[in-house]
Amino acid sequence: MRENTRQETLDDPKLQLALYTATGRLMDHRKKAIGGGKVPEYQDLRTRAAAVKRHTLDYLDVYLTQFEAAVQANGGKVIWARDGAEAADFILSLAKEKGESLIVKSKSMTSEEIHLNDRLIKHELETVETDLGEYIIQLAGLRPYHIVAPALQMTRYDVSTLFEEKLGIAKDDVIENQTMTARRVLREKFLAAGIGITGANFLVADSGAVVIVENEGNARLSSSAPKIQIAIAGIEKMIPRVRDLGVFLALLGRSATGQALTSYTSILSGPRRKDERDGPEEFYVVLLDAGRTKLLADKEKRESLQCIRCGACLNYCPVYRKVGGHSYPWVYSGPIGKIITPQFQGKEKDPWLPFMSSLCGVCAEVCPVKIDIPKILLALRRESQKSSDDAGAMKWFARLMTRPWLYRLAASFGLGWLGRKDGVWVREVKWPASSGPLKDWLAVRDFPAPPEQSFRDWWEKRRK
Ligand code: SF4
Repeated sequence: MRENTRQETLDDPKLQLALYTATGRLMDHRKKAIGGGKVPEYQDLRTRAAAVKRHTLDYLDVYLTQFEAAVQANGGKVIWARDGAEAADFILSLAKEKGESLIVKSKSMTSEEIHLNDRLIKHELETVETDLGEYIIQLAGLRPYHIVAPALQMTRYDVSTLFEEKLGIAKDDVIENQTMTARRVLREKFLAAGIGITGANFLVADSGAVVIVENEGNARLSSSAPKIQIAIAGIEKMIPRVRDLGVFLALLGRSATGQALTSYTSILSGPRRKDERDGPEEFYVVLLDAGRTKLLADKEKRESLQCIRCGACLNYCPVYRKVGGHSYPWVYSGPIGKIITPQFQGKEKDPWLPFMSSLCGVCAEVCPVKIDIPKILLALRRESQKSSDDAGAMKWFARLMTRPWLYRLAASFGLGWLGRKDGVWVREVKWPASSGPLKDWLAVRDFPAPPEQSFRDWWEKRRK
């Protein structure tokens, strides 16, 4: 399967309906979970969560060191990865050393970010996604469409065709049957895999614990069935203490899916102990930088690192709800994608991205950790303008607008050619909608043709 372009998404009524319905449903669930005074302390929880995250980022070096020491004390090991290549190299060498070739993986945006599956599969390690949505998009060869619901754009009919094509089974568009098919395939993988890779919703500094929040139980299986567990997480996932967890768990489920608490919350702290019946024999945590320390140094925008990937800003964003997840250049879409993509990947790569927003501010209103996304978007826009040709264009525009004679002249030539009609100057309007330098710009925008007579001309004539 291939990804839809932005135009295809806009032109496809079925996809528009699917997007609108799915995000609308998630919005409703969130509203029901926190509305009507159900959680009277909701705003206090947000304030508290934002403060904890801000504090942790301010002292991240301290907490990272504390976390490493705690993981080691629990019998695990921390691996510091500067980028995706270093993270993948560690996993590859470990798999080689242990003679393992099958990996089960639970949902992790961090691993999507560094294209971990592609890197491992290239070296002939079978890596299987075990979250249902992730499994579907892995089979389809697509990027996640949404942070929380990776296959949000696919209908059950799409999945039926996909399973027929990739698993060689008869078409079946009953969702329960599709789930059972995935379950059957994945159970075999869980039992045979030697390595389980998970993400982490939170890393707890004081106890060296990795916290995973999920609804399907696949992360729990990925982290307990195989002999080796590897958790991969961005360094910003840190929180100082186990007792801070309650605040985040109360916010994450409600913001993401409208659940007071997600079905499974696993707190993993090291390999299996002597008196324990299950759990991995080896436990590793890969701490990924990949642009995060650079962003940490930026005081104005570092709050972008507070994100707990709940996806609420996507569901509420009027732009995301129209253009969908594949219209964004990286794995992170919606408002959070617009601010972290340029900061992680380089502002030069997609300079238009921070402009893909109406700045309505709803993302900041719903964000459980109070990230001021519009403020960061504006900062990114300012930086982009400073370094782009637009800055020069704006200077010319300012000159034009502050000199009436120049404006008059430019308006005459810019909006059409002047001609005499009934004794007055009029424009012979030929608006170059389908040709000329503005062709591409006008192809996706309405730009009404200017009137034959400008207001200035009309006013002049009326005065006479
Ligand atoms: S920016 Fe806020 S609302 Fe958006 S995904 Fe992150 S935590 Fe959720």
